[in-house]
Amino acid sequence: MQLTSCGHTIMAYPSFSRESVPNWGAARVVDAGRLARLGQARMLACVPVDCTLCGGAARGQPLCDACRIDVMRTMAGPAIRCSVCALALAQPACPDCSARAPAFDRVIAAFDYASPADLLIQQFKQAHRFSHARVLADMLAQAVLAQNPALPRHTIMVPVPASRAALRRRGFNPAAELARSLACRLPYALRPGLLQRVRDGVGQTGQSRAERMCSVAHLYHCPKRVENASIAIVDDVLTTGSTLHSIAREFKAAGAGYVCGLVAARTPYR
Ligand SMILES: [Zn+2]
Ligand SMILES: [Zn+2]
Repeated sequence: MQLTSCGHTIMAYPSFSRESVPNWGAARVVDAGRLARLGQARMLACVPVDCTLCGGAARGQPLCDACRIDVMRTMAGPAIRCSVCALALAQPACPDCSARAPAFDRVIAAFDYASPADLLIQQFKQAHRFSHARVLADMLAQAVLAQNPALPRHTIMVPVPASRAALRRRGFNPAAELARSLACRLPYALRPGLLQRVRDGVGQTGQSRAERMCSVAHLYHCPKRVENASIAIVDDVLTTGSTLHSIAREFKAAGAGYVCGLVAARTPYR
């Protein structure tokens, strides 16, 4: 064991490349790149910064402890939620799941897309605050690990591919960055290549819920069979669930036994 300059204890591992990692079985494979990212995350956790929501003191991440609790409290409130899509319900029937039977089995969200947390997502996606991926992944990983029942052990995480137009506009895919950070925090494999975007489609911003459901049909394709696999689709925001539904349908057609959504934020019904 070693003690870092900021007082954290870390395990000392022998140096090895990805190619020379001993075969400890799929669930125990240690990846040198992952260890480096973990070390980097521990060092970043010591850096004092201003909280992006209240301006108070935070350490190594854009949120102070109080704002982080406030953000996650939105999902822990007394609202009754749809057991499938995690929508806070004002009526017994879920309006999103009633509109079409979802092809996905479950959604896990870290918080509601509402003030003050919506600012985090807006800064991440629109102001290109790339580093917000880490704090969003922290909160989402916390939500995933708190689930009972837990996700199946061999779950594979797959980010929603961005359109070429969105990639040109932002310079990065928020879902892919979130999934990459999530892979450092959860014991599930990340396989972005399991999902392809067939065409750009029309941007969903400004569309009604009904229009969103039609506009994403047949946008995505799973290029190989995934017999009985457990797939977790990673995205930053789930609005109507139409994107997740469309992707889950592709994966189920490719043989997946279980498909869930892991999203940082769930948009309340408006
Ligand atoms: Zn704060
Ligand atoms: Zn629902």
